Order: sequence, then structure tokens, then C-alpha cells
Amino acid sequence: MSTPSLEQVQAALATVNDPEIKRPITELGMVDSVEISEAGHVDVRVLLTVAGCPLKDTINRDVTAAVSKVEGVTGVQLDLGVMDAEQRGQLQEILRDGKAQREIPFGQPGNLTKVYAIASGKGGVGKSSVTVNLALALAAQGKKVGIVDADIYGHSIPAMMGIADARPTQVDDLIMPVPTPSGVSVISIGMLKPRRDQVVAWRGPMLDRALVQMLADVYWGDLDALLLDLPPGTGDIAISLGQHLPSAEVVVVTTPQEAAAEVAERAGTMASMMHQRVIGVVENMSYLPCPHCSPEEDHRLEIFGSGGGERVAATLSQRFGYDVPVLAQIPLDVTLREGGDAGAPIVSTDLTSPAARALYRIADTLGGRARGLAGMQLGLTPTSKF
Ligand code: ADP
Repeated sequence: MSTPSLEQVQAALATVNDPEIKRPITELGMVDSVEISEAGHVDVRVLLTVAGCPLKDTINRDVTAAVSKVEGVTGVQLDLGVMDAEQRGQLQEILRDGKAQREIPFGQPGNLTKVYAIASGKGGVGKSSVTVNLALALAAQGKKVGIVDADIYGHSIPAMMGIADARPTQVDDLIMPVPTPSGVSVISIGMLKPRRDQVVAWRGPMLDRALVQMLADVYWGDLDALLLDLPPGTGDIAISLGQHLPSAEVVVVTTPQEAAAEVAERAGTMASMMHQRVIGVVENMSYLPCPHCSPEEDHRLEIFGSGGGERVAATLSQRFGYDVPVLAQIPLDVTLREGGDAGAPIVSTDLTSPAARALYRIADTLGGRARGLAGMQLGLTPTSKF
């Protein structure tokens, strides 16, 4: 058997992505050295971005597997080192693509990532559940998806995604979103706190900084869709988002009862005041499929009343002068709640349930819309208005 060439081993290494950055380790300056013995033994030294990188086992496994596959390789020895300050600086430059720091990529001309803000009038209506399930449903369509959990009160997204205690890796002042097995990357406002259980009294300017940090200082790469889980109501984060990202499109989540619908209308109206487009309403907890009847009978128990989603959609359509449709009615489903608690969202575990199907329908509607600039509103509101 012939000795493998350096080119062959380099080509194999180029197939290994850094799990957080999701780009080939060869492009990121992470491959420090490669030595190949005549007998086909390969010594590779890979530099981690930071010491104690939580994903070093993944890198180890992927590098070893990729190099082992090269014809003529008889053994692989991987040595893991850590980048020095200069190497980290070079990496940052690669990731920032030579651009100035603290620029929100999604607000730049030519940005192709669809940004969806998931809003609600009040808490507990299922906004975070919709966000995680929608993200996973879009990822299942092959889309590259990120989630920003900006809900200061709940920040429940990491737990719902099964990464409750994960902390993001930081390469100097660049933060890596936390990857999940589904491919969806997550950053949460809760991760910016020193400890998960710490209570932070976030005030307007702090919230604005936190939001900008999650959008500009996090390396998101080339996403198809970024979903933002907003705090309920019409508070500071909604205003900051409107100012920084008027191109974000808003999905309003409500439950069927009158009182919820009324506050949901206010959240939608707030988005429109910030020149964001409201692209639809999701009615969650719409009904409980009668446990005593067969699915064909479609007997629905309307635990929280009915009509809230339709009402919000009709009011917002009339108010804005364009069609704001009801994107879906999601039934009450114990599995959805259990999946949220267990960090295993229903769209990945119980695909055929009516709730998962409703969530997939929303993803189909959103995913079917072209990636790109069409439909964007121009954010021309003078900020002094607020
Ligand atoms: P919000 O983000 O609006 O505060 P969450 O998504 O955290 O709401 O949902 C609140 C609770 O309701 C969670 O325990 C969640 O699992 C549960 N839940 C949400 N939607 C449903 C549903 N359709 N069926 C059953 N439980 C649900």
C-alpha cells in the first residue's frame, strides 16, 4: 500500500467542520501540523480556539474518522493544542470577514438571512415552544437555523433544546452560539449571566446591549433563518429590536381567549410601529382533541374558548392594510409540554401528532418564502418617537 500524500490528508481534514463555527477546520487555521510516516501513520496537531473547549471530543472523533478513511493510513495520532492570542486574532478576522466589529450582519444590505421575531402579548401562551419547534421544523427542511432567546423573563429556550446548562465558547470578544444535535445553534440572554440561577434586573440600556451582543458579537455564520424569542409584551427588547433590525418579520403567538387576543394585538401593533412586518398569527392551545372520540370525528374541546387567533389576524390585517393570516392552530398536547420539559421538542419526537403537523405547516409556509430581500420594509421611523 502506498504512503498517503499530504494533499490527501489535508483534503480529509477539510471535510471536518468545527462543531461551533460550522466551517472546515482547515479554513480556520486550526490545523497546526500534519506529519505522515512512511508506514502511513499520521500525526495531526489541531489547535482548539480556547482551552477546555467543550467540543474537543467531537473534534477528536471527527478528525480521527476523516483521516483514518484516507487510503494507506495505518494509524492516526491527534494532539490537541490551544490557539495563542495571535492565532485567535487571525481567526476572528476570518470570521468577521474583514468587517468592522459590532455590526449586526442581519441588518446589512445584501443580508439573505430571514429574521423572524416570535412575539406574544403575555407570557405562558407557548411562544418559546413555537420558537423551538419551528426552528427544528425549518432545520428538518435542510435550512441552517439559529435561535436568539431574548426572553428576559423566561429564557427557557436552552432547556427546551436540551442544552440547559451549556455555556457558549468565547474566542476573545467573539461568542460562539451553542450547537445542538439538530444543527440549530442557540444563544440565550440567560447565557450572558454569570450563573443560570442569578437574577438580573435588566434595564433598558442593558437590554439593548444584550440584544446587540447576541446579534453582533455572536458568530452566526451563513444562516437561512434566525428566530428570536422575544419577551412577552411591548417592552424594551421589542423597541431595541425594531431599531436595530427593522427588517425582522414578526409572528404573533396567542391563545384563543379574548383577553389573550387583545394583548397579542398590542404586541403586533408595536412591531408595526417599529416598521416590522407582521407575517402571521399562530393560535396555540387552540383546542384539546377529545380523548374519548376517534381522530376522524374531530371533536374538539375548546378549553380556552375560541376565535382569538382569527380575531388578532383580522384586527391586524385591518390596522396595517395588508393580509396577516392565521398560520396555524396548534392543539393542546401533553407530548408537546413533556417534550419542552425534557429538551426534546415534539416536531422531532412525535412527527405525526396534530400539534407537530401544525408546526410543520408553519415551517412550510415560512420556508417556502424566498430567502432574500423581497418583502422587506424600510426602517425609517425616527427613533426619537419613542
Ligand atoms: P411562553 O414562551 O409564551 O411563556 P412556553 O412556550 O414557555 O410559553 O409555554 C408555557 C408552558 O405551556 C410550557 O410548559 C409548555 O410546554 C406548555 N405548552 C405550550 N404550548 C402547549 C400546547 N400546545 N400543549 C400543551 N402544552 C403547551
